[in-house]
Amino acid sequence: MRVDILGITVNTYSMQETVEEIRKAVENRVKIRVVTANPEMIYASGKDQQIRNLINSADIVTADGIGVVWASQRLRTPVQERVTGIDLIQALFPVADQNKWRIFFLGGKPGIAREAGIQVAQKYSGIAWEDSHGYFSTEEETEVIERIRGFRPDILLVGLGAPRQEYWIAEHRDLATVSIGVGGSFDALAG
Ligand code: UDP
Repeated sequence: MRVDILGITVNTYSMQETVEEIRKAVENRVKIRVVTANPEMIYASGKDQQIRNLINSADIVTADGIGVVWASQRLRTPVQERVTGIDLIQALFPVADQNKWRIFFLGGKPGIAREAGIQVAQKYSGIAWEDSHGYFSTEEETEVIERIRGFRPDILLVGLGAPRQEYWIAEHRDLATVSIGVGGSFDALAG
C-alpha cells in the first residue's frame, strides 16, 4: 500500500513490515530498490520531476521523517511509522545474520564503510560482507562495480548521499537483490 504525500508515493509499512518485504525479496531473489525518503529529498522532488520519478519508481519508499507520518494521518491509510535508513539497516542485520546474507557496504569516506562492516560483523558473525568507500573516480568506479558484482550481494547498502545514491542504484540495479540508499548511516555505524 502506497500513499501520496506531496507527489511522492510512500509505503505505509511499519518497520517490521518493511523488514519482512525485504526478507521476502532476498528469499525469492526478486531485485528491488529501496528509498528511505527524507524531508530534503521530498522537498527537492517537488521541483525536480526526475527525482520524483526516481523515488516513485522504487519498489519500497519509506518515510524517513516524522513530517510525512504526520501528514499522512488524515488519510484513510496512514503511514504507520517513521522508517529511517539507519533504523532499517539496524533492523535488517539480525535477519541477515540468521539467514547468512551477503552485504556490501558502499559509501562514506575511506575507512568508514570498513569500520561499519567490522562493527556489524562483530555482533552478527553470520553476515558475509565487503566494502568500498564512496569517493571513487570514474575509472575506479568500474573496479568498484566489478567487485560488487563478484561479491554477489543479497543486500547492497549505498551511502553516497541523496539523491546521488538513488541515481546510482537505479543505474546499477542488477548488482544486488536488494539495493538500499542509506545516506550517512555508515558514519553512524562506524561511531
Ligand atoms: N559520500 C560519499 N561520496 C561522495 C559524497 C558523499 O560516499 O562523493 C558519503 C558521505 O561520506 C556520507 C554520505 O555520503 O557518509 C552522505 O551523508 P549525508 O548525511 O550528507 O547525506 P544524507 O544522509 O542526508 O543523504
